[in-house]
Amino acid sequence: MNRVIQAGFANNKVRVVAVDSTNMTIHMQKIHDLYPMSTVILGRVSTAAILLGTWMSEKEKVSIFFDGDGPAGEVVAKSDNNLNVKSYIKNKKIEAMFKENGHFDVQKAIGEGNLHVIRDMELKDPVTSNVEIISGEIAEDIAYYMNQAEQIPSAVSLGVLLDKDGVRASGGIMLQILDQSMNENELIDYEKRFMSIPPITSYLDKGNNLRDLINIFGESDYIEEKNAQYKCDCNDERVKNSLVSFDIEELEDMKKQGGIKVKCEWCSKEYNIDEKDLEEIIVGKGSKNA
Ligand SMILES: [Zn+2]
Repeated sequence: MNRVIQAGFANNKVRVVAVDSTNMTIHMQKIHDLYPMSTVILGRVSTAAILLGTWMSEKEKVSIFFDGDGPAGEVVAKSDNNLNVKSYIKNKKIEAMFKENGHFDVQKAIGEGNLHVIRDMELKDPVTSNVEIISGEIAEDIAYYMNQAEQIPSAVSLGVLLDKDGVRASGGIMLQILDQSMNENELIDYEKRFMSIPPITSYLDKGNNLRDLINIFGESDYIEEKNAQYKCDCNDERVKNSLVSFDIEELEDMKKQGGIKVKCEWCSKEYNIDEKDLEEIIVGKGSKNA
């Protein structure tokens, strides 16, 4: 279970969301077989996807895509409003790099480049916002996106805590100012409260409750709990469709080998594509070209 709590304050001018994504990050490390540094990065980006997922409308999906030039390569996480999450990191075995304070140097692993956030509302064309990766630490970049592209002053904190046995804790918190006409002293007060929050991972690791974290912001107008889950939507049909982009020659080769195994890049599930499946794809392509 990955607990998510959202609450409104100051007559809903302020919104706070907190996530305990520990189970999800443990699951991701296992299915993607990630090195520690890759776990920290994918854990942070996936937790950010949950935070943004709570902000989406009912049928909306959000994708976060870090396209940096560092050793991590592409990092993508997707969530919908029901907080079904799936994610992917190109480099699953990043060699650990540390900052002077002993923390993983996520900034260096992400590198320079762009952050794309895609909001997909099904019926309309998806809306893509592109911002520069200003930090590479993920949380600051998500806050920058919220400020720049969504015009909502926000603060974000994300963390993944590891020890030699694996993931100890993973989580995030986001503060959003929904009404910019808010009086400045009040605004500063909420910022101060946000700054007073201990690192979320050590907070969760000590067995503390997410609700107590929310209570730091005072008396809430509403409070709502949800669960997030890692959920892939791959199936036979999708995997077969993904092979359509190969040349007929390549498909014939696969057929000659007696079929192939295709692994889903989001959940690592293996699909057996046999000769009959490949023949179907070849015939389908042939009829399209004719
Ligand atoms: Zn899958």
